[in-house]
Amino acid sequence: MTDKDQGVTVAPGAGFCPGVKKAIDCVLELEAAGKNPVYTIGPLIHNKQVTDNLAVKGIVSINSLDEAKEKNGVLVIRAHGITPDFQREVEAQGMKVIDATCPLVKKVHTVIAKYAQEDYDTVIVGDAGHAEVVGLLGYAKSKGHVVANVKEAEALPPFEKVNIVSQTTQEESIFYAVAEVIKNKSKICQISNTICQPTKQRQKETTELAKNADLVIVVGGKQSANTARLAKICGELCKRVIHVESAEEIKKEDVIGPKKVFITAGASTPGWIIDNVSARVKNLRKAEKSPLMILGALWNFIIQSSLYTAFAAAALTYVGMKLQGARNDLVLYAISFLFVFCLTLINKGKSEGSPYTGKRYYVVVAAAALIVLLSFKYKAAVYIPTLFFLLMGILYPFR
Ligand code: SF4
Repeated sequence: MTDKDQGVTVAPGAGFCPGVKKAIDCVLELEAAGKNPVYTIGPLIHNKQVTDNLAVKGIVSINSLDEAKEKNGVLVIRAHGITPDFQREVEAQGMKVIDATCPLVKKVHTVIAKYAQEDYDTVIVGDAGHAEVVGLLGYAKSKGHVVANVKEAEALPPFEKVNIVSQTTQEESIFYAVAEVIKNKSKICQISNTICQPTKQRQKETTELAKNADLVIVVGGKQSANTARLAKICGELCKRVIHVESAEEIKKEDVIGPKKVFITAGASTPGWIIDNVSARVKNLRKAEKSPLMILGALWNFIIQSSLYTAFAAAALTYVGMKLQGARNDLVLYAISFLFVFCLTLINKGKSEGSPYTGKRYYVVVAAAALIVLLSFKYKAAVYIPTLFFLLMGILYPFR
């Protein structure tokens, strides 16, 4: 969504991905149903503002099962998923367990388990230690490897049979570059691109919008892998990128210079934080509309609307007449102005593929009509060539 006046665009797909949204909705429903406490195994998402709000509601993040003291509570497995061993341990606790693992992460579990069953090695292209990757490794039957890039892939041994998967938030170009290296050193190689569709979509729209921006603001937790990845992608496409967790981090000097600002956010960033960031950026930019900026906007308008070229034509007529010692003739200046204005508009329209449509059509007709009227003030030696060249100009797009 673009605010044309402010030059601020928010990525249409910014905010919670379906997996994160489902997990958040799940714990909120449990809390609303009076379940207390609700334990999440690890923070539900990597966003401090959200986890702080959840903690106030009695939704507590724990790092080990020993921390779940209230046996009447509910244990929630977060969207990242866990290893099968840990799942068994959780279920043996005797507490109610809700599995909020994202279905798209579960799909990766299935792919890994299927090939691990057939004695394949598994290579996961992702961040070692990330909760999702730890969970994925658990399905690889002790034959799992994690690599983050081509360099790490080159250091792996050759494989007899290998299945290559990706962390769901991986960058596609990195995944395929790593897969290529491993394929070349393996006898049998299965490449399973398991980057989830919401991530692909987010990265695609970010790539398209970031390359045309003067400033990109990436909103999301500093610990969030997918937000960090978005910031990295944007850094390769735009000279200025800032990564913030909240609106308060944005300073005036960050946002008043750039013409086009693009705001994007990681999968774990709630919509209200994105809205706050967008509102703050717009307010700071609005407050900073100095007389100089207004002058700049006016100048742009004069240039883009062809008025500048038309003024130049009128000025040239004035100079020509002065050099010949002719007396001032405002009507003649007006004809020069309108003539060049009218033909420049037609020419612009032609280069855009539609010389006579929309508002431009009415402006051209009005300017041409005025030229005809004004030129009749003069004798035939003036108005006949004027009308002839006007007609030529009007017909020019149809040559
Ligand atoms: Fe699911 Fe993709 Fe969101 Fe991960 S990023 S939770 S796989 S939708």
